Amino acid sequence: MLITITASVSHSFLSFFYSPSPSSPRTLISSLLPNKLSLRSSFLPFSSLGRRRHHLHSQPTGSVSANTMNASSQKLENPDDLIDSVETFIFDCDGVVWKGDKLIDGVPETLDMLRSKGKRLVFVTNNSTKSRKQYGKKFETLGLNVREEEIFASSFAAAAYLKSIDFPKDKKVYVIGEDGILKELELAGLQYLGGPADGEKKIELKPGFLMEHDKDVGAVVVGFDRYINYYKIQYGTLCIRENPGCLFIATNRDAVTHLTDAQEWAGGGSMVGAIRGSTQKEPIVVGKPSTFMMDYLSQKFGILKSQICMVGDRLDTDILFGQNGGCKTLLVLSGVTTLQMLQNPNNSIQPDFYTNKVSDFLSLKATAV
Ligand SMILES: [Mg+2]
Repeated sequence: MLITITASVSHSFLSFFYSPSPSSPRTLISSLLPNKLSLRSSFLPFSSLGRRRHHLHSQPTGSVSANTMNASSQKLENPDDLIDSVETFIFDCDGVVWKGDKLIDGVPETLDMLRSKGKRLVFVTNNSTKSRKQYGKKFETLGLNVREEEIFASSFAAAAYLKSIDFPKDKKVYVIGEDGILKELELAGLQYLGGPADGEKKIELKPGFLMEHDKDVGAVVVGFDRYINYYKIQYGTLCIRENPGCLFIATNRDAVTHLTDAQEWAGGGSMVGAIRGSTQKEPIVVGKPSTFMMDYLSQKFGILKSQICMVGDRLDTDILFGQNGGCKTLLVLSGVTTLQMLQNPNNSIQPDFYTNKVSDFLSLKATAV
């Protein structure tokens, strides 16, 4: 078993101000980079982005990279200091910008204020069921002025990853997932099959029955899929096990998601788990907390990661994503994480700051004056 050990530097907010060369090294032991051999052997050469050693963490959410820093996070008291210290804010969406289909109070005014200060705003979500364009419509419906180019969903990340490794145009992608992934693959000019088209397919087992599969499939992308079935699992499994060098890519490994606000629902990790179980392989993860999207954003916009603040409501995806990328982190308590969860002695993921909701950027400024 190959284990990759990487070091990531994350700066606490205070060290940023009080130290001329802030460096609070936080050693992270990233877990194995899966499919490393097949990646190297099948689709070389990589583009410059793909050639970099991404921290494509394969650990399930809920498990934590070894985090040697146990300092508690601080309540955000003076948002101006944080705002002045960063150039880009990356926002998670659900639990930060909206909850289900309801906008969280004060978000439009806060985003406007940050834009008026010249800050770059980026929106990142692990939800792969929609494409960037479809997310753009959701922002628009909620009355938010957000451009498609500012939205990075894990569906887009899967297509961007394949492009970054120069995935051969004559190869195909088999999709276990919903429409968002197909749309992004199409925009990237990649051939695909599966997805919703296989949602109704059934296998009729007869003696000696053998399921055929396309030998030109060079990658299987697995995302959240409400219509996953045994046909899709078997098809994806055959591709990964029998097509030489076939990649296994996961949009995310979230344990749970919030289809309704009444309870937690099995997340993308459950679909990924099915394919892990049958192939005994670990996926390349492109969504949070893997650093692929952070590396992509940093390169695309030419931003220093120390100039980024990741704002999210989940410790094991958002905050870990920010920390893995070497960014500042702000936890908002408007989503799934409560103050009790943050301060639980068993929780080792501590953001630089926490606050109740994004609009505290405004209300705290008002009270500070
Ligand atoms: Mg969230």
